Amino acid sequence: MQIDHSENIVELKNISFAYGGKNVLEDITFNVHKGDYLGIVGPNGGGKTTLLKIIIGLLTPSHGTVHLFGQDICCFNKWSKIGYVPQKATNFDNSFPLTVEEVVTMGRYGKPKNDKIVLQSLKQVEMLEFRNKLIGDLSGGQQQRVFIAKALAGEPEIIFLDEPTVGVDLKTQEQFYRILKDLNKKLKLTLVLISHDIDVIASETTEIACVNKKLIYDNNPENFLRSEKLKKLYGSGVKFVFHTH
Ligand code: ADP
Repeated sequence: MQIDHSENIVELKNISFAYGGKNVLEDITFNVHKGDYLGIVGPNGGGKTTLLKIIIGLLTPSHGTVHLFGQDICCFNKWSKIGYVPQKATNFDNSFPLTVEEVVTMGRYGKPKNDKIVLQSLKQVEMLEFRNKLIGDLSGGQQQRVFIAKALAGEPEIIFLDEPTVGVDLKTQEQFYRILKDLNKKLKLTLVLISHDIDVIASETTEIACVNKKLIYDNNPENFLRSEKLKKLYGSGVKFVFHTH
């Protein structure tokens, strides 16, 4: 299947946002194309989560426009095309009484029951054999994968993930990023991943948008790691590990 990378799934034009009187985002313009694996990076407090909430309609910008699948967000109603894995989706009480399979089935809310898709989603994140376990009994990394399966079960065309690997150990993180890469490459899913971990993002994603109130950079991840903008943003004392491919 060929993917038309020129097709815009998300179009942001001149987005500004303030909490109270405090400007958090100023004049942000960029697009997410079909098939992209976009990393949104930037320092903590730079406005990444706020921007994501604007894209998925949880917050309304003070200026600017958002289009999803070519439609103005005010009138957009095909929310089932969009998957969202929020920050701290995995803060579960151990006594939470749902099984892994039940959590993933919730991802089909409002859609016809389809056990095959639920099981297939679990397989895609390599969690099928855990389907009868209680969600609260899993590790943070395993729970995170179940939440991706839950998003996949809704058969979305794009998935947004907000800081998905916070508190997850390095080995689990590597497996997690391998799965995301497969979803992007093999299933042709469009992914938008928020992270403050610029090194990981630059080595995993195919596009990068760096946000610190303004859009600082919107281009190729490898070039960004070598750019002067990075030093200006984080200070030249910051060390980045460069991955070789
Ligand atoms: P990031 O995701 O890059 O860490 P955020 O979008 O969470 O950044 O936050 C951007 C700025 O907005 C920060 O200064 C933060 O303190 C502020 N902020 C975030 N949420 C709220 C809120 N609900 N009310 C007021 N200020 C907020």
